Amino acid sequence: MILNIKEVCIINTIMQKRMLENSKFTEIDEEFVCEHCGRLVPKLEYSCRNHCPYCLYSKHVDINPGDRAEECHGVLKPIGIEMNSKKGYVIVFKCEKCGAIRKNKAAKDDNMDLIIKLSSNPI
Ligand SMILES: [Zn+2]
Ligand SMILES: [Zn+2]
Repeated sequence: MILNIKEVCIINTIMQKRMLENSKFTEIDEEFVCEHCGRLVPKLEYSCRNHCPYCLYSKHVDINPGDRAEECHGVLKPIGIEMNSKKGYVIVFKCEKCGAIRKNKAAKDDNMDLIIKLSSNPI
């Protein structure tokens, strides 16, 4: 069964709540330093954070969104934008290590100038 990103986010939220209730795992929320621009990326409160909002780079760590099961760990470079009638902007990434194409919904605090710039790129 393949879960969509919404379902994965819901599961993650439930798991995080459980872990918080457990109190030992208060730092499960993912804040990370972007490997491309070096800025500290705060957690995204309303959804799964899966890319840097400043430079839009991501990391090839998921097979399905949020599962962290991918062993490649290459840098995912944003190469274009797709418009999705339900999700809005979808960023298309290419892994610089293995060449895999990944897609992620844009977050509300993403760098809009970059998204607009990327949307004029032919994919
Ligand atoms: Zn970045
Ligand atoms: Zn990869």
